[in-house]
Amino acid sequence: MKLLILFVIAVFAVICPAQEEITKDYLMGKFQPWKDKRFTISGGNYLRKETLEAYQKMQAEARNSGVYLQIVSATRTFIEQKRLWENKWTARTPVNTDTGEFLPKPNTLKDTLTKEQRALRILEFTAMPSASRHHWGTDLDFNDVNPSYWSSMRGQKEYFWLVENAPKFGFCQVYSANRQTGYHEEKWHWSYLPIARNLTNEYQKQIIDSDITLTEFIGSETAITTRFIENYVLGINSDCK
Ligand SMILES: [Zn+2]
Repeated sequence: MKLLILFVIAVFAVICPAQEEITKDYLMGKFQPWKDKRFTISGGNYLRKETLEAYQKMQAEARNSGVYLQIVSATRTFIEQKRLWENKWTARTPVNTDTGEFLPKPNTLKDTLTKEQRALRILEFTAMPSASRHHWGTDLDFNDVNPSYWSSMRGQKEYFWLVENAPKFGFCQVYSANRQTGYHEEKWHWSYLPIARNLTNEYQKQIIDSDITLTEFIGSETAITTRFIENYVLGINSDCK
């Protein structure tokens, strides 16, 4: 009888491998990818092992069509995203890297923005720390993160190739054109759905706007007024949900 029970357990373990535990800290980028067994590193970028495998297959096929894909950003931790966000908030770096526009320095004479208006400008292209899909190791930025690059001949050819081919490899353009809410269109940002789809669902289940306001970064309170999770985290291309 004992043997039979052991046998049943063994068969069950093979058929249903342990479900990956998705913690709040992982979803919010509060972990160390270099210590996490699910992650690997490639060209200085950390990413989920399955994401890298799919990317490498896609990159090889693209190369055969004369399209050269390169990852310019993959996993970013909470701390890295906080640096990006706060540099834009405090006008240390441009709010728009393409045009070079800076927000007015907070609390100066030129500053006429409310906190919410300031957040909304940054949110055109940059996620709040603790809510970036880049925390997950499933989302990649290819070649160039400036919209103007993607209007060039080369950018258009690459984008056309991605639209035609990336879905075959599991990648989806989450910030597509024609959404009602969320970040501006990002032709460079592609998400590896076989993992990321579940993470979007888990984010929706486990995290609410007030969790974000409790994390430490400047302007975190605007997560409430911008209805951040509903409008941004879930404001993605419906094909990628
Ligand atoms: Zn991105």
